[in-house]
Amino acid sequence: MVDAHKKYEFKKQLEELREKHGRGTELISLYIPYDKQISDVTSQLRDEYGQASNIKSRLTRGNVQSAIDSLLSRLKYIQRAPENGFVIFTGAIDIGANKTDMQTTIIEPPEPLISYKYHCDSEFYLQTLEEMLEDKRIYGLLVLDRREANIGLLHGKRIEASASLTSNVPGKQRKGGQSAHRFQQLRLIAINEFYTRIGDKANSVFLAVDHHDLEGIIIGGPSPTKEEFEHGEYLHHELQQKILGLVDTSYTDESGLYELLENAQDILEGLDIIKEKQYMQNFMKELVKDKGSATYGEEQVRKNLEMGAVQTLLLSEDLKKVRITMVCDVCKHEEKKTYARKPGKLDIESPPCSKCKSATKITQAVDMVEELSVIADQMGTEVVFISADFEEGEQLLNAFGGIAAILRYHTGI
Ligand code: ZN
Repeated sequence: MVDAHKKYEFKKQLEELREKHGRGTELISLYIPYDKQISDVTSQLRDEYGQASNIKSRLTRGNVQSAIDSLLSRLKYIQRAPENGFVIFTGAIDIGANKTDMQTTIIEPPEPLISYKYHCDSEFYLQTLEEMLEDKRIYGLLVLDRREANIGLLHGKRIEASASLTSNVPGKQRKGGQSAHRFQQLRLIAINEFYTRIGDKANSVFLAVDHHDLEGIIIGGPSPTKEEFEHGEYLHHELQQKILGLVDTSYTDESGLYELLENAQDILEGLDIIKEKQYMQNFMKELVKDKGSATYGEEQVRKNLEMGAVQTLLLSEDLKKVRITMVCDVCKHEEKKTYARKPGKLDIESPPCSKCKSATKITQAVDMVEELSVIADQMGTEVVFISADFEEGEQLLNAFGGIAAILRYHTGI
C-alpha cells in the first residue's frame, strides 16, 4: 500500500461505511473497474431499476429505486473510471428516530479493482476494499531444539502459532549397562526421526500458504540444532529454497516464535512490523533513560509538538479521537477539546463556556490524527503510524494513550 497517511484515511472511510445500515436491503455498493464501459453500467442499472419494482415493501422499493436514480445521475458526468476504478456506495441510511438519510460515498481504491460488482443489501459490501488493507505477505516461522519445536506464520503484523511438537530423544546421559556406541546410535536415530516429523509438519503448514504469498522462512533455536535441521534438508525442496536465515533463540516453545521475530530484524528489515517495532523500541529506550527526550499522552505530546520540539510523532492506527472547536455564544471565547470518535455522525453536546458558563456552539470537528498531522507538517516532525496488531503497538494504544513522541530536545514538559 501507498503512504501511511492515505492508508489511515482509507481505513477510516471503510470504518465509517461499515457502521452504516439500511432498514431493508436497500444499500447499493457499485464497484466499477477501469476497463468497464460506463454505458454498460448504466444499462445494467436500468435493469436493476426494473427488477426493483418486484420488491414487496413499498418503502424498500422506493429507497432502492431512488438510490439507483442517484447513481444514474452521477454516472452521467463520468466518461471513464479512474486508473484503479472506483466504488460508489449509496442508499437510505438508517439514522435512528425512524428516519433515513440518502447518502453517497465515492472511493477510489488504492489498488486496481479487478471485477465489476453491483451489490444490494442492508449493509455496504466492503470485502474487496478491506482485503486491500491487509498485508498479504506471509513468513514461515520455525523454532526447534531436540526436545520441542513450534511452527507459526507471520501474517502482516500478526503471529499465528500453527503447530507444536515434542520429541522422545533421550538425554545425553546414557543408562548403566548400555554401550556408548549403541546409545549414541539410538540417540541419532531418535533425533533424525524428530527432525523428520518437524519437517513433515512444517511442510503441511507452509505449503498450505499460496507460494506467491510465502515470502520466506526463518528458523530459530540453539546451535547446532537449527543448523543440523537446515543442512539435513528436512523441509520440502521448494521450502528449503525459501529459508531466509537462521537465528539464535533461547526459547523453542510458542514464545520462541516471538523471540524469533525479535531477533530476525536484520533479515526482515524493511518490513512494516519491523520498522514499527524499532520506532517503539527506540521510544521505550528513551523513556527508560528518563532524560526527558520521550513523552506520551495527548496533552504532553501536543504541547511539545506545538513548540516544534517533536522529532518523531508516534500515532496508533486505532486512535479514534476527534478534536472539537467550540465558541461561546455570549463572550465568544474559543476552546478546543478532544473526544472519542464514534463512527457515524458527530454526537457531542458541547459543554458550557469555561469563562462565563454560557452555552457554546461547535464550530469545527476534525479527526485528531488529521489535526496533529497538520501541525507536524508545519514543524517538520516525522509522523509514524503504529498498528495495534503486535505487542509494542498494543502498548502504545493502551498504556500510552495511543500517542507518543521522541523529542529533539528536552523541554521540561
Ligand atoms: Zn463565554
